[in-house]
Amino acid sequence: MAAKILDGKAVARELRVGYRERVRALPAPPGLAVVLVGEDPASKVYVRNKVKACAEVGIRSTVIELPAGVTERELIERIVALNEDSAIHGILVQLPLPAHVPVRNVLEAISVEKDVDGFHLYNVGGLVFGDTVFPPCTPYGVQCLLEHAGIEIEGQNVVVVGASNIVGKPMALMLMQKDATVSICHAKTRDLAQFTILADILVVAAGQPNLIVAPMVKTGAVVIDVGINRLPDGRLVGDVDFEGVSRKASYITPVPGGVGPMTVTMLLGNTIASAERAAAQPVASAERAMSGRAPAPA
Ligand code: NAP
Repeated sequence: MAAKILDGKAVARELRVGYRERVRALPAPPGLAVVLVGEDPASKVYVRNKVKACAEVGIRSTVIELPAGVTERELIERIVALNEDSAIHGILVQLPLPAHVPVRNVLEAISVEKDVDGFHLYNVGGLVFGDTVFPPCTPYGVQCLLEHAGIEIEGQNVVVVGASNIVGKPMALMLMQKDATVSICHAKTRDLAQFTILADILVVAAGQPNLIVAPMVKTGAVVIDVGINRLPDGRLVGDVDFEGVSRKASYITPVPGGVGPMTVTMLLGNTIASAERAAAQPVASAERAMSGRAPAPA
């Protein structure tokens, strides 16, 4: 059995066509502010990709570069100013931040209505109720990829390998909202294979090349590889042995070209949704952005 490829690049391209239309329908282009602290080369590449993707659909992006020695206070002051700027609909702080800056304080300073990465505590908490203002981009991208392929989620056994705050945990909550039966595994899980073998849908986000090999996968499973690992020879691979597992799975995501392009695309979608909300309720949105308060749940 050869698995069908879940082509994130192609789905992303298709979604972006619709996004361009939505941007054109707005009274002014959506604005995304990306805050980049320090000189981390990987962060710079990620920011460059996000800026490029924004331009592609007509989102106006602004990169605010701050030195690695920036204080928590200076950084939060910049965010507060962005919260109050009505031309900005999304604010993203590129992680990781330098060790001296408390990440949570910085993320909590972002207005919930502009938290397009979905990392504010309100948005994280909203995942439990299924009413986030912005779903976090990577798990949201995975969900869209599954839905786009018409893969049933309700009632399926889902195993998520990786329990980080930005991928594994929100992924598990989002698929639980879709009525899947979800198990979460992490580095201290004993006998990972006894869980993965039960998965109808296996989502892997551990950052460990070759962690998942064919004998750990049920025949016909849907395998989503979120991992991105750079091997010593320069190759980019996921967490799943693609060659072996693709002979056993029904669907599989490639790395690169699977979840990665979907993550950036969800960021664009969240930013456009924010601009649409602001255009629909200009006064209420501006007031809430100033106060940092969350909108009432839908
Ligand atoms: P992270 O914060 O390092 O979390 C990794 C998670 O995997 C942790 O929960 C860890 O368990 C678990 N883990 C590590 N080794 C394991 C093992 N041998 N067996 C089972 N679980 C194990 O990483 P992350 O930010 O979630 O990212 C995970 C991967 O996805 C990375 O490769 C990252 O580059 C990639 N990523 C891709 C995208 C994309 O758009 N495609 C976006 C974000 C991240 P403990 O909690 O017990 O330590």
